[in-house]
Amino acid sequence: MNTNTNMSFYKFMHKQILVIIALNISTAPGYLFMGYLYTSMVYESIWIIFMVLIAIYGYTLYTSYSKEMTIAAKNRWLDRVRFFMFLYSISWSIMFVYYVTFDNLQMHYITIATELGSSVVAATLLASQKKLVTFTVIFLMTPLIVYFSLIGETYSYILAFFSVVLSGVILYAAKNTNDYIIKSNYQAYHDHLTSLGNRRYFLEILESSVREYKNKYTYLLLIDLDYFKTINDTLGHDIGDELLQAVALRMKNLSESYNNEVSRLGGDEFCVLSQSFPTQETCLENAQLFSEKLLEEIKKTYNIADNQLYISASIGISLIDNREIDANEFLKEADMAMYEAKNSGRDGIIIFNEPLRKLVKTKLDIERIIHFAIQEDEITLNYQAQVNADKKIIGCEVLVRWHSNTLGFVGPDIFIPIAENTGYIIELGTYILEESLKTLREWQKKGIILEQISINISMRQLHHFGFVSLVEELVKKYVDENSTTQIIFEITETSTTEDITELVRVIEALKAFKISFSMDDFGTGYSSLSYLREIPISELKIDKSFIAALKNPQQASLVKTIVSIAKNLNLTIVAEGVEEEYQREFLREIDCDLYQGYLFFKPTTKEKFEQLFVR
Ligand code: C2E
Ligand code: MG
Ligand code: MG
Repeated sequence: MNTNTNMSFYKFMHKQILVIIALNISTAPGYLFMGYLYTSMVYESIWIIFMVLIAIYGYTLYTSYSKEMTIAAKNRWLDRVRFFMFLYSISWSIMFVYYVTFDNLQMHYITIATELGSSVVAATLLASQKKLVTFTVIFLMTPLIVYFSLIGETYSYILAFFSVVLSGVILYAAKNTNDYIIKSNYQAYHDHLTSLGNRRYFLEILESSVREYKNKYTYLLLIDLDYFKTINDTLGHDIGDELLQAVALRMKNLSESYNNEVSRLGGDEFCVLSQSFPTQETCLENAQLFSEKLLEEIKKTYNIADNQLYISASIGISLIDNREIDANEFLKEADMAMYEAKNSGRDGIIIFNEPLRKLVKTKLDIERIIHFAIQEDEITLNYQAQVNADKKIIGCEVLVRWHSNTLGFVGPDIFIPIAENTGYIIELGTYILEESLKTLREWQKKGIILEQISINISMRQLHHFGFVSLVEELVKKYVDENSTTQIIFEITETSTTEDITELVRVIEALKAFKISFSMDDFGTGYSSLSYLREIPISELKIDKSFIAALKNPQQASLVKTIVSIAKNLNLTIVAEGVEEEYQREFLREIDCDLYQGYLFFKPTTKEKFEQLFVR
């Protein structure tokens, strides 16, 4: 990888400039002194001026360098630095050629020493620049070898031979250093597990790509594998590592055929940076196309140590269209999009846009402060009546409300999924359950007897290890034995059918306390009719989106089918979101049991709900 090898070399060469200037300027006056002793000083003075001019040139190169330069500009700069270094080497050779024309042997010794010294300096300080070192050393040592050979004596031939050997040794040492620098540079910029570029490498190419092109567009993908941790935890780190390598290889192969560059940011997180496109549209199209291909590629089965493994990924896309923005910002955008892809069920691709930034910010705010909602007394419960075909209230659904002191009212549709993700749902759900049961007890004392009170239970909560005993404890504390039949837990199936056995186990355990279950939001998500047969529920709630679409004959007949199948399974049917009279009529015709919606009652406070019973 050419770009990254150069990247740290620029910095390296930048540092060497001052060292080289200091070395040359501090030693060059030695020749002035020689001139004072042995010659007219004219040549030495001119030479010194020449050296100072080169130093000034070098200094301007030193100050003109900036990290912000594009790679092309840095390369031009590096060429000039090489020229500067080369000028210095030549200048010592000029002095050598001049001094050996004198008969004074002391002058020869001095100039031989400086020639040798320059070679060693070049080899050690410029080791990173292989070609420059070779060229400079040959340039400095050849005059010396020629000089010794021309003396024509036995000892001088031996000296010439020694000089050849010395040149070889210097070049060999410089090559070793160079190899070492390249190797450690490679290690600093690559991930050892997958051999892809690492985070540092990626940030550097991203930065230069952002600066590089004006009026060109590139895209950035952030790829995070889904549930990789589970594979690591269940199958062990060795298999996890092998899977990462296999995924990395697929990404690399695909990226190469698209001229994209893939790096591993760490863990199971990867980044892709694209080549550039002339317009925003083509860039976006290509980003979408590439992501789909990549996801498809990642999802193909893996064969690792006799395991058939499958993994998906969540991909966030950010478009690099504004060159004024800091490179890190694009990474953040891709990260937000990826986070959103995770939130919307994983195994997906999301492109970053401005509304998303706001959404993510709100979600992060919620994530941060929801943990204090209970202790700050911001959580309340609302109750929405459920009526029968005769419009008589027979039950209610408990709906949680959060009035945040800082964010204002936040709907459960927004904060429940967040609480589920952060795990806060366990605490929140427990609170809601306890408050609901307290209400049930209160109502009993007041003589408000409902057939049923429905409490929403999150799957995360239901699968929590302490759930059954928690319910047992709370029910014993607040509800008398005969009243538990009123309690219905509403569940929504959001995950695939894997943990269905566990779900059935929990439901059966709670049915022992005479608590029954309702399938909420039926028709959306993963719930299916076959699913109904496996799970011991007693009620089914048709999602409000179906009720809202009843004017559509196809939807209407679908609802009819759902109702007749549910009837066959002996389930009570609740229609939610009934807002209009025609909906109620339709539902009544197909023999729907219970109704819930704004047409009858909106969710309301406990006190207002109680007033519905005061006659
Ligand atoms: P859900 O369980 O399906 O609750 C029904 C939602 O429909 C409620 O929204 C309710 O206010 C709304 N709704 C009722 N009648 C109508 C109507 O006629 N028209 C329309 N358009 N909407 C109606 P809400 O209160 O915003 O709750 C949203 C979701 O949040 C709930 O959907 C439920 O999944 C979740 N949720 C609410 N409270 C809790 C809770 O205590 N625990 C858990 N785990 N989830 C809850
Ligand atoms: Mg519900
Ligand atoms: Mg519902």
